[in-house]
Amino acid sequence: MENALRLTCLSCGQANRFPAARLDAGPKCAKCGLLLVDGDVIAIGHQRHDKATQTDALPLIVDYWAPWCGPCRTMAPEFAKAAKALRGQARFAKIDTEQYQAVSQRLQIRGIPLLILYAGGREVARLSGARPSADIEAFVRQHL
Ligand code: ZN
Repeated sequence: MENALRLTCLSCGQANRFPAARLDAGPKCAKCGLLLVDGDVIAIGHQRHDKATQTDALPLIVDYWAPWCGPCRTMAPEFAKAAKALRGQARFAKIDTEQYQAVSQRLQIRGIPLLILYAGGREVARLSGARPSADIEAFVRQHL
């Protein structure tokens, strides 16, 4: 397939391939039917985290958070706002670092909230601390 994009479904983990030109048409997951690029923040676990961050073509921003973390909860609506604003250009996900401690240990995460931007299957940049949506948007756009 020419100019094929690979996107992991953040909901079920299915690897999807589709022509890059179809990105604007709202491609859906071949397995569960979820829109692959919908502007929502999707909660992911260990396996989907690794698959999506290591293989996906489209930039992916992951919010590393925990339920006990006040600043994380404060930032959640700001993160969601940025996800809507950047719909179609990047995808947004969040992972609970308390539930998935192996992930945060491997990434050597010392403090949360922490955002990590991935693109082309590798880590591109980090942004730490609770941020307003404008900061999150600027951070992502800087690396698009
Ligand atoms: Zn799916």
